[in-house]
Amino acid sequence: MSTVIQIAYLVASVLFIIGIKYLGKTKDARRGNILSAVGMLIAIVATMLTIEVVTFMEIFICILIGSVIGLYYATKVPMTKIPEMVALFNGFGGLASFAVGLSDYFLKSSTSLESLDAVNLTSIILSVLIGGVTFTGSMIAYLKLDGKVSGQPITFSGQHLLNLVLLIAFIAASVFVFLDPTNLTLILILVVISLLLGILTVIPIGGADMPVVISLLNSYSGMAACATGFILNNNVLIVAGSLVGASGIILTQIMCKAMNRSLTNVLLGGFGQTVATGGQEGPAVVIKEIGVEETAMLFDSASSVIVVPGYGMAVAQAQHVIRELMEQCEKRNIDFRFAIHPVAGRMPGHMNVLLAEANISYDKLIEMEAINDDFSNTDLVFVVGANDVVNPAARTNPQSPIFGMPILNADKAKTVIVSKRSMGKGYAGIENELFGYPNCLMLFGDAKQTITKVVGEMKEMS
Ligand code: NDP
Repeated sequence: MSTVIQIAYLVASVLFIIGIKYLGKTKDARRGNILSAVGMLIAIVATMLTIEVVTFMEIFICILIGSVIGLYYATKVPMTKIPEMVALFNGFGGLASFAVGLSDYFLKSSTSLESLDAVNLTSIILSVLIGGVTFTGSMIAYLKLDGKVSGQPITFSGQHLLNLVLLIAFIAASVFVFLDPTNLTLILILVVISLLLGILTVIPIGGADMPVVISLLNSYSGMAACATGFILNNNVLIVAGSLVGASGIILTQIMCKAMNRSLTNVLLGGFGQTVATGGQEGPAVVIKEIGVEETAMLFDSASSVIVVPGYGMAVAQAQHVIRELMEQCEKRNIDFRFAIHPVAGRMPGHMNVLLAEANISYDKLIEMEAINDDFSNTDLVFVVGANDVVNPAARTNPQSPIFGMPILNADKAKTVIVSKRSMGKGYAGIENELFGYPNCLMLFGDAKQTITKVVGEMKEMS
């Protein structure tokens, strides 16, 4: 039986790896998802066959409760709240590893002390540390994203020193656990420190830097699962955890590059603290408004258009009407493309998913690096619900919290039209000097409603 189970785990692991490989290409991504899901099913069935401590009924009840909660949230959560849901998923993944680590410790310390060998203790300690940090860190990220606590960095003097002292205390307590594995006080110290470290490393990160912390926590949740795999001696958990951990770190590096941050700063926590003490508001600017009819006329007379989608497009659910706008433009032989910033929206790939949902072909979506030089040769840039990702302060204002972050060069185009509801700020909470530039026109109103009217006007013109 155990050979069959190990073979099943091997098949599941191979399916995970092939699944991830397929995810690398958009056209194969759906197949990749299906393959990985089949791998997960095989892994679950194989694990069910090895049940030792609990009964099938207990497992069934837990699956039922989890599924009902999961189904409720998956159907209720709007598209714009998916990043918060991802933060919760990461957090609960960490919590599961944390709980498995502790329960394995209590089980073995009370029944078979000799099985608490060095490998086992190391796995338990790592599970508690990474799981605890992931859990509380993700909860803080969730609260920040949801606006329940301020999204701005929370800092105090000696913060790095405190983190370092806590880490050293954790290592010291771990060494003592090896000397005295039954000492409950030491385990309690490990638990408290790991939970505290999660909070302390995420609170100083804020504003536009949140994407990095989210992908990093995702990676942590994978590493926590991997440590749990060692505790349970479960190969498929080790492989799946490593895959999530490694892919999360790769994504973190991509995000770091997009935000122009170094990974060391991220790992130390407390980055993104360059909160401006002045200069954020900038000089008084003259805002020029444009109406729906004039917007339609500008589209009609353009020969090249780049759309910059942002978080506001997701809020307004304007992707379908933007496809109609694209169709109107293409009828007029206008070159129509989308410029995708790596951190536009509230989660990696947010814009790609929304535009794909509206059947906009992937070859129209151009990454920042590939399109940034083309803005200066473009007649019209249409910024839909984006703000931080087109804020020239990232280039021009060293006091700005987003200074150094690569942005889309929308301001370089001949004309820029910005669709948003008001002069409201973006996620980083700072003014956008682009809105006062001479080539910039503001189209105020909900993106879906205004673009629907623009499309209506264009239909009448043709
Ligand atoms: P921003 O958050 O900078 O700006 C969004 C803009 O959308 C707002 O200024 C708002 O202005 C406008 N808006 C809101 N609702 C509507 C609506 N119904 N119709 C039209 N406009 C609307 O978005 P960006 O995409 O430019 O930038 C993303 C930001 O989020 C970055 O700072 C990034 O770092 C951060 N972030 C990204 C994550 C990721 O992984 N991608 C994760 C976490 C944070 P108004 O209120 O005036 O309408």
